[in-house]
Amino acid sequence: MTSRSPQAPQRSLFARNPYPRQRVSGVQFYEHTIVYERVFGPVPADHVIHHEDGDFANNSPLNLSAVTKAQHLALHSESAA
Ligand SMILES: [Zn+2]
Repeated sequence: MTSRSPQAPQRSLFARNPYPRQRVSGVQFYEHTIVYERVFGPVPADHVIHHEDGDFANNSPLNLSAVTKAQHLALHSESAA
């Protein structure tokens, strides 16, 4: 007796994830953030650390500055006039 019931199409749990990102518990720690905080103190609330020369690998304190998220977006926006 052959049962040929059509199998339901396999659905990936993540194929239609309505959320663009999974919420990650805890705070992400970046090396440049650690360097900045060691030199200048805690990063102000709602600020991010920006690499002045655009080189993310250059984590010299002189290359790091705390900017607001809005400022940071503007800094990285090529089309900003
Ligand atoms: Zn930046």
